[in-house]
Amino acid sequence: MAARIIPVEDFDLVIFGGTGDLARRKILPGLYRRFATGQMPPEARIIGAARGEMDAEGYRAFVRAALNEFLAPGDCAPADVARFLDRLDFQSVDARGEGGWDEMKPKLREGVVRAFYFSVSPSLFGDIAERLRTHGLAHRDSRIVVEKPFGHDLASAKALNAELAAHFAEDQIYRIDHYLGKETVQNLMAVRFGNILFEPLWNHQYIDNVQITVAETVGVGGRGSYYDHSGAMRDMVQNHIMQLLCLIAMEPPAKFDPDAVRDEKLKVIRALDPATREHTVRGQYAAGSDTPSYFDDVENDASETESFIAMQLSISNWRWKGTPFFIRTGKRMKARLSEIVITFQPTPHSIFDADAGGMPNQLVIRLQPNEGMDLRVTIKEPGPGGMRLIDVPLDMTFAERFGQEAAGSDAYERLIMDVIRGNQTLFMRGDEVEAAWAWTDPILKEWEEKHDRPIPYEPGSAGPDQSLALLHRSGRAWREIKA
Ligand code: NAP
Repeated sequence: MAARIIPVEDFDLVIFGGTGDLARRKILPGLYRRFATGQMPPEARIIGAARGEMDAEGYRAFVRAALNEFLAPGDCAPADVARFLDRLDFQSVDARGEGGWDEMKPKLREGVVRAFYFSVSPSLFGDIAERLRTHGLAHRDSRIVVEKPFGHDLASAKALNAELAAHFAEDQIYRIDHYLGKETVQNLMAVRFGNILFEPLWNHQYIDNVQITVAETVGVGGRGSYYDHSGAMRDMVQNHIMQLLCLIAMEPPAKFDPDAVRDEKLKVIRALDPATREHTVRGQYAAGSDTPSYFDDVENDASETESFIAMQLSISNWRWKGTPFFIRTGKRMKARLSEIVITFQPTPHSIFDADAGGMPNQLVIRLQPNEGMDLRVTIKEPGPGGMRLIDVPLDMTFAERFGQEAAGSDAYERLIMDVIRGNQTLFMRGDEVEAAWAWTDPILKEWEEKHDRPIPYEPGSAGPDQSLALLHRSGRAWREIKA
């Protein structure tokens, strides 16, 4: 079965930061893939914008090099690449100056969707938003896409929201979190709300615990100075993991409509109990045989920033009271893996011998690598060995069933197509972001005030042993981190 491609409306997309790392690695290759599959209309235009001086030809050469670098050779059919490059233009503009804006205007067409992607530092969001309006480049139905990080704490997130709200209405603002663009994340909603099977069991009576793991093998690398001011809590928990948790825990919305979905997610964040130090483990990777320590990477041996965090969270509402949500994320861990594991309660009574085997059912939702879902069920071990039980996965991996198109498209490209469609369901609303920071701020402040030092952990491990103890004390265990 092949994935269906539904073309979007004709559009003009301006990428501020069109020469930056994110544009080169993700946005432009993603747009090319949408073009090559026929989803991006052949008339649509992409206009790169940055301070550097470049003409359209120069930008095309720049983008050609990016496509060659970041796309698989098989993806770059020369005729498609040439037609795609033909859709590109460039405008030199300084977010903080007045030059270039009026020259951008004739490059935009009337009567097509108009979107502006702010792939620049958040410190420029307000300047760009203001100039788009004062130079008459944005209409009431134009859209802006803003990148993370959306704030450093509640105060800065509120300030950013206010800067954008001064020039754009909330229904024009698309705060991107690429985790929400992953096929599996969207499928989580389809599985929950498109089937009768799961929803009756989706509560504290039948779910023993939920685990969310986002593990990376890399260290902080060249992002040391940024990361040391951020840490795992701000970089991963406050946004990506919080969003995943909301999708797992939210009530069924009345319809699949952006505000209905986001209202339900917001209620989850508001029902989260405050994070406590007692239920949190923070770590920093030590040096390995050929890898530097976190201190070396950030060049600060007094750093109190965590490169690993594990937490036990509770949601105080009727559905979830008593079901712990365990989350963990870290760098330099044993494998690269993003996974959600829903562990159901054991059967109330086993009719089989105590040593027959069998485990509670688990729904394993893998975001990377190999996006897909496994429902682990207990069956009889085939063969003549008597009634012995084994757990087998009912595999719902997309690559096999729907082909590479479904499995291989990137979250960024899906989300950009949603911007063009005007669908905000998978984008964070301003009040959601503020609620997430309101939950995160107190614990961040407490660590700072108490000068909590993260615990060193071995690179290539699952983080500090104390993170295992977080589950052991209630007789549970993390699912192993395995690629
Ligand atoms: P980058 O490589 O530093 O690129 C920044 C871009 O902004 C360049 O095109 C730069 O070109 C342009 N720029 C800088 N100052 C400008 C100004 N005053 N006016 C107009 N354009 C200006 O940054 P990046 O890594 O692409 O990141 C962009 C945004 O995405 C950041 O908010 C980042 O946090 C976020 N993000 C990045 C990644 C990633 O993987 N890279 C992932 C998630 C989020 P000129 O210098 O020529 O102006």
